[in-house]
Amino acid sequence: MNNPDEIRDIVIAGGGTAGWLAAALFAVHMPNVRVRLIESEEIGTIGVGESTIPPFLGLIRKLGINEQDFIAKTQASFKLGIRFPDWREKGHAYFHPFGQIGRPIDGNDFYHCWLKAKMAGHGSELQDFAPASVMAEQGRFMLPFKASQSPIGTAAYALHVDAKLVAQYLRRHAEAHGARRTEGMIAGVGMTPDGQIRSLTLKAGEVITGDLFIDCTGFRALLIGGAMGVGYESWADQLLCNRAVVCQTENAGPPPPYTIAHAQGSGWRWRIPLQTRAGNGYVFSSDHISDAEATEVLLRQVEGKVLTSPMIVPFTTGIRKKVWQGNCLSLGLASGFIEPLESTAIHLVYRTLDFFFRYFPDKSFDPALQADFNRRIHADYEEIKDFIILHYCVSQRRDTEFWRRVTSLPIPESLKARIDVFRASGSLREVGPEELFRSPSWYSVYEGMGVRPSRYNVLADRLDTDDLKRLLDQVKPALDHFVRTLPMLQDFLDSFCPATV
Ligand SMILES: Cc1cc2nc3c(=O)[nH]c(=O)nc-3n(C[C@H](O)[C@H](O)[C@H](O)COP(=O)(O)OP(=O)(O)OC[C@H]3O[C@@H](n4cnc5c(N)ncnc54)[C@H](O)[C@@H]3O)c2cc1C
Repeated sequence: MNNPDEIRDIVIAGGGTAGWLAAALFAVHMPNVRVRLIESEEIGTIGVGESTIPPFLGLIRKLGINEQDFIAKTQASFKLGIRFPDWREKGHAYFHPFGQIGRPIDGNDFYHCWLKAKMAGHGSELQDFAPASVMAEQGRFMLPFKASQSPIGTAAYALHVDAKLVAQYLRRHAEAHGARRTEGMIAGVGMTPDGQIRSLTLKAGEVITGDLFIDCTGFRALLIGGAMGVGYESWADQLLCNRAVVCQTENAGPPPPYTIAHAQGSGWRWRIPLQTRAGNGYVFSSDHISDAEATEVLLRQVEGKVLTSPMIVPFTTGIRKKVWQGNCLSLGLASGFIEPLESTAIHLVYRTLDFFFRYFPDKSFDPALQADFNRRIHADYEEIKDFIILHYCVSQRRDTEFWRRVTSLPIPESLKARIDVFRASGSLREVGPEELFRSPSWYSVYEGMGVRPSRYNVLADRLDTDDLKRLLDQVKPALDHFVRTLPMLQDFLDSFCPATV
């Protein structure tokens, strides 16, 4: 111990994905700290949150978890990106892949080289050069790092997981590293005179004390919102969807290696294929469609036998005004929520924890740490919110009241500046080195939604147009042919990590 004020006891309230992820990370990385998690089976978990992004695999490895074992036990399948039908306009679809798109040509950004060729009449599409898009299109899969010298070496992947099985898996892992679980309903929160949390009282009477309390109680936000009284900054005026109806179905055929986010008249519908079933949901705006109608649309469109009754999940898009206050850190749905169009919520849980480790306080809970941490997390949420708004605001759809509204909302200044700079120069105006969405993501959504700059970057003029076209004419079929040699996703799953539950 290098500080008498060191935090020794961490109490986690709630055992959903956020709670168990926190418990596992604290237990694995801080073996000298006692970790206790309280959850109530009576309340249960939200049970959605099944599409992830590539950093999730990094987290699994960081926890010392074997990827194959994790995939097999959470019925997970592989994800190479998201397919977006009907967003730009009805009948059009585009793909947002993980990993790189093309490779720099003579030091020039591939996008600008491609754009130069395209403007000179080349017939290719940007995604023809994204390994993950080509694999997804063909329904094939291989771990890119196992073929790092091949044309798919720069692809990346994530997982589709069963949310409940993930929480169970992380629970076993956390308990194996010393975390303690207590079953019980939190009925009261004891406070100190200076506004810190002293203890949690369970319905059965037990009083649990701690130094640091982590609020993972989902939308209830019992500690951060309830006991600490930290307000919520609503972004409901910027993103209109405020409810989802969800259900699980059988897989209709082998799972494709991507999430589908299919735009609808009043929101969008997801399909997340796992090894043994699919998760489905319609995220919608209650100003534009009723629960009953949204449910009817979902059930009409899902493929495969419906396995669970449709469940309505209301939400308010936004962020806790302070994600960390005093001796309470909030995580997951207790800290904020942005609709899951780019599968970012679970990512924000470990992103928040990652930052918390960097700023890890002692029992003085230095306000300067809190202020800077909260500023940083707020910036992450803002970045994701802007990226999600991009999917709506540049749409050409005007066919329903919902689309007329979302395309006429004011665009946040931060996003507007990005779009303006891109339209004028093709430059991405990245705000910082730790931004989640990197250039391939912005290029994919801009191009997919029909936003193209008026000119390519002048540096690409060092390359001869005909040479460039010839090069693209070689690269595209080479990638396409290589991908044809890969196994279909189902065959890969069967041989590498078949579901064991
Ligand atoms: C419609 C929808 C779709 C989503 N899709 C995705 C997605 O595709 N990808 C993604 O990354 N994220 C997604 N998310 C977000 C994701 O579901 C959550 O980030 C994740 O599940 C974490 O939830 P949680 O642990 O914060 O809350 P919960 O799962 O709700 O867990 C709350 C926990 O608190 C406990 N609790 C509450 N009150 C008490 C009490 N009084 N006493 C004791 N225990 C209590 C509960 O028992 C439970 O254990 C989605 C969310 C929604 C709403």
